[in-house]
Amino acid sequence: MLSIKNLAAKVEEKDILKGLSIEVKPGEVHAIMGPNGAGKSTLGNVLAGREGYEVTGGSIEFLGENILDFEAHERACKGVFLAFQYPVEIPGVSNMEFLKASVDAVRESRGLEPYSSVEFIKLAREKSKAVDLPADFLKRGVNEGFSGGEKKRNELMQMMLLEPTLCILDETDSGLDIDALQVVADGVNKLRDPNRSFIVVTHYQRLLDYIVPDFVHVLADGKIVKSGGKELALELEKEGYGWIEKETV
Ligand code: ADP
Ligand code: MG
Ligand code: MG
Repeated sequence: MLSIKNLAAKVEEKDILKGLSIEVKPGEVHAIMGPNGAGKSTLGNVLAGREGYEVTGGSIEFLGENILDFEAHERACKGVFLAFQYPVEIPGVSNMEFLKASVDAVRESRGLEPYSSVEFIKLAREKSKAVDLPADFLKRGVNEGFSGGEKKRNELMQMMLLEPTLCILDETDSGLDIDALQVVADGVNKLRDPNRSFIVVTHYQRLLDYIVPDFVHVLADGKIVKSGGKELALELEKEGYGWIEKETV
């Protein structure tokens, strides 16, 4: 599904990713852990095609296509979804309108008709219930005045509506209490599917108790320095990252 080879990327003239490789097959959940500043968010942003990141080497192939040539919205239409560490507020634009516009754009690119308002309202209410967000959040401005947990639930709802093929969650657990964490994890687990893959960036092993990954990778200084199964996350929780750095010198 996703093949990242020797990826190198710069932000503001600074080398951040320095030869990073990962292979993700359909249905797999890959967790990415690593110290602050390692390049985890940069990886998510480069995958999603956000502006401000210059790819200086390597390749990203998604569903057999080199996606480095595509703009962010084209990648979204092809099924790449990035959930942000800090979701943005868009006051004045209703959440419902925003969701409908993004879902219809993706549907259009797949040759499908836009939803009618009635259909979409029904669908959005169903999904807001699934993430435990009261329906009146659909009428409010996008993320306007939402708490951290509410923003994450809202984003999860957006993900459910968009039905992406590759979901990238960047520290979706940061700032969540245990109940909100459970809601996010349940939502992700419901979306797990043989044709859908996840890259879950997290600082803490805690989230991985609920979203059990197939693989865990440690990203340090712009590269994957260690990979393993879910037990690697437990080891990291106990031992920190120092031992890996020693192991790799
Ligand atoms: P992580 O998510 O692993 O904590 P990031 O990918 O956010 O790490 O950041 C990696 C490095 O890139 C850090 O040193 C950070 O300061 C730098 N960086 C990220 N974004 C920018 C930016 N827009 N301008 C300058 N430096 C940046
Ligand atoms: Mg960070
Ligand atoms: Mg980050």
